[in-house]
Amino acid sequence: MRGSTVDGLTSRRLGISGPLDRVRLQEAQMAALRATVLHAKAGSPWYRERLAGVEAESLRLPADLARLPLMSSADVAAQGQRMVCVPQGEVARIVTLQTSGSTGAPKRLHFTRDDLDGTLDFFLHGMLSLAGQEDRVLALLPFSQPDSTGDLLIRALTGGGVHCAGLWPPADAVELAQFIAAERYSCVVGLPQHLLALSETLPFGAVRTMLLCSDYAPPALRRRIEESCGCETFLHYGATETGLGGGVECEAHDGCHLRESDLLFEIVDPVTGALLGEGEEGEVVVTTLGRRAMPLLRYRTGDLARLEKGPCVCGGVTARLCDVAGRGKACVLGGGFRLTSRELDDRLFDLEGLLDYRATLDCGGGSDRLGIEFLAGAGHDHLERDLGAALRRVPGVAAALELGTLALGPMRRVDAFSPSHTVKRTIFDQRGSTS
Ligand SMILES: [Zn+2]
Repeated sequence: MRGSTVDGLTSRRLGISGPLDRVRLQEAQMAALRATVLHAKAGSPWYRERLAGVEAESLRLPADLARLPLMSSADVAAQGQRMVCVPQGEVARIVTLQTSGSTGAPKRLHFTRDDLDGTLDFFLHGMLSLAGQEDRVLALLPFSQPDSTGDLLIRALTGGGVHCAGLWPPADAVELAQFIAAERYSCVVGLPQHLLALSETLPFGAVRTMLLCSDYAPPALRRRIEESCGCETFLHYGATETGLGGGVECEAHDGCHLRESDLLFEIVDPVTGALLGEGEEGEVVVTTLGRRAMPLLRYRTGDLARLEKGPCVCGGVTARLCDVAGRGKACVLGGGFRLTSRELDDRLFDLEGLLDYRATLDCGGGSDRLGIEFLAGAGHDHLERDLGAALRRVPGVAAALELGTLALGPMRRVDAFSPSHTVKRTIFDQRGSTS
């Protein structure tokens, strides 16, 4: 194997000379962290107050990071404007994200042109893991707005000499498959559920590779895509907070190689916030390195995953984020049983014919009620019954059904979901305040 393309990017951007190894990488990351802390304290009143007792120069080893307090999504929503470290005129893009917090205040993430150029650099080199000059890439992502994810991806690849075009929202799967075959696209980037629907209509072997962009892609969904159309799937990890790009799988498919030039990752206990050992599953905490407009220092992403720093089978040195479980928050069912959207994803996407779904929890007849709206491929008329059986195999659901605190609600087939709701799957909890 030829190693991860993220390694070269990381070496170059951190200015590491000689072969990349973990010692050199750690030294360069800690130097970049010190510079980031100085920049944050100089430019932002919020960081100046919060880090008053922290000397940037004292940050030498990864364990020293614990001197910096953790920050959350709620901090960004409440104090984001005071985190901005550059004059407003240097802000090239602001991304507004709705939060589910009690105040409902949105998060506004700020980026300079330099920050966005860093994303372009990662998008190009990350994509070289699965596409080359001979490929034609189709991005099934929103791209009409300047500096949106799709727009940055198209510009990054085009700038690197790889043909790339955008299409949003994705057309009907049959039409889309015809278009892809006619235009000879060999690599497709998109959301897992859109790529799943596409894979069932594509001629086998027409597309060589696909990149799944999302916080979590169930293994069953990847298997179905690969078996249906004969392509190799790659995962991307990233969020607006990581500067859109975060990490990408190599051909070994054992975790996403992280963009360690621009991001420093830690895994902490989701409850206590204590740093966990290598390989332990916990909450992903990210620190931006070199980010100008709005640095984030020890930001809790809410994602659950493991961090592997040992050498990858591909020969790559950059750390890998493995088994990303998306937003970790569980719904608590009557009787105290827990249910996560990941558990539903793992069971439901195993059902042949299921293309996408939306789960809703509400109150009905004295118990919780779990209903599913779903999209199905042509000819899968039995899916309603299969869905009920699959739900009964989810441990939390089975236990609550047994106790009588949960009932299965309607299983309803729909023709389409709006493209926006499918960006991040979640359980829509409409039970009001829950314990
Ligand atoms: Zn690798």
